[in-house]
Amino acid sequence: MKSTPALSAKDPHAPADSPVIGMVSLGCPKALVDSERILTKLRADGYRFTDTHEGADLVIVNTCGFLDSAKAESLHAIGEAMNANGRVIVTGCMGAEPEQIEREHPKVLAVTGPQQYEQVVKAVHTHQPIVHNPYIDLVPQSYEEAGIKLTPRHYAYLKISEGCNNRCSFCIIPSLRGDLVSRPVHRVLYEAEQLAASGVKELLVISQDTSAYGVDLKYAQSPWKGGKVAAKFYDLCEELGKLGIWVRLHYVYPYPHVDSVIPLMAEGKILPYLDIPFQHASPSVLKAMRRPAAQEKTLERIRRWREICPELTIRSSFIVGFPGETEEDFEFLLNWLDEAQIDRAGAFKYEPVKGARSNDLEGHVPEEIKDIRWERFMEKQQDIAARASQAKIGKTLECIIDDVSEPDENGLCGADARSKADAPEIDGAVYIRDIAGAKPGDIVSVKIEDAEDYDLFGAPA
Ligand code: SF4
Repeated sequence: MKSTPALSAKDPHAPADSPVIGMVSLGCPKALVDSERILTKLRADGYRFTDTHEGADLVIVNTCGFLDSAKAESLHAIGEAMNANGRVIVTGCMGAEPEQIEREHPKVLAVTGPQQYEQVVKAVHTHQPIVHNPYIDLVPQSYEEAGIKLTPRHYAYLKISEGCNNRCSFCIIPSLRGDLVSRPVHRVLYEAEQLAASGVKELLVISQDTSAYGVDLKYAQSPWKGGKVAAKFYDLCEELGKLGIWVRLHYVYPYPHVDSVIPLMAEGKILPYLDIPFQHASPSVLKAMRRPAAQEKTLERIRRWREICPELTIRSSFIVGFPGETEEDFEFLLNWLDEAQIDRAGAFKYEPVKGARSNDLEGHVPEEIKDIRWERFMEKQQDIAARASQAKIGKTLECIIDDVSEPDENGLCGADARSKADAPEIDGAVYIRDIAGAKPGDIVSVKIEDAEDYDLFGAPA
């Protein structure tokens, strides 16, 4: 679970005497979207924001409680905010276990759980009330209409559901966040359209289980643009593909119906990119993990997907050293990686999480073996990624610009960009030399000249 350091959303339009709120957002992109919703609601209520603890009247810490190391990081972030500011409200996944927070930081003002936007906002109003001025207060807006984005302006996360119906043995997210609750499809599409209209060039579709979208709604149809759209994975992708911006799918499980979106990728409607957290390949480990879609013949499917869409990039995450993982299981995983040619992969060493059923499994793997397996995994993965990167030398790729340096005396800049194969924050970058007049969000053609493990280097084509 990735942590995002202190984030801020400054609002120049809020009344100058309204209270100032600081926010630290930790954890995954789903938690980031929760932070955006909280900030959006607070902005609509007239609060202002700062990115320093010292300058805030109150600090909200949105915590991650997925792994014990993430919990420790969350407790540390709460401690920092307490020391620097002293007025702290805690929310997020760790808020589901308030005792631990209150034991370590008894002076926090309030603790609320994941997805409890209303409660966090209520706690802020209680502890830092705002004086309403009917002449200058902003008209409240929903986050779908004018959400605060903590991502750069040219890309945005689009959260399509909350919770999860799966019960992976190492994961406590369903007990923290509950079963799958999909957002109605017209709400998702409306938000996507508004984001595109406000200048967003890349949408990152997220949830706990993107391919299960709409199951809980029984694929209910919503009126949309004079017709009807079903709350279904394929239908959602097809509609998002009409926006004319990059659409990237995260947290997809290899259910058979996922096959149907590959032609949309081949036709250029959505990005040829699938983030599938496989977590392992050995059937016995997958069974112990209780992974969704573990029985599907993934290697065969991946081969077929690549036949239909040769450009397809697959990103995944894996756990090494899961209880009961034998040397044989681990070698099965390495061979599978070779066969599947997973383009981008991260690996975590298994960590027991309080409350997870995997804690009771037999055969916990000693730490030193986990370390060795992790090194071996990363070596294999780096090899695969490096070969894939080398194969791109000489090609021309469409890239989206994230950042641009100051121009030199000839007006030329360097730019940090990403190809269609690179999601922000987690994948590689394309470094462009000698580019003129570019700005973040521009999509440009780049001739690749060199490659290094995960990164590419090139010049405007
Ligand atoms: S799919 Fe598994 S790992 Fe992912 S949130 Fe659901 S239970 Fe947890």
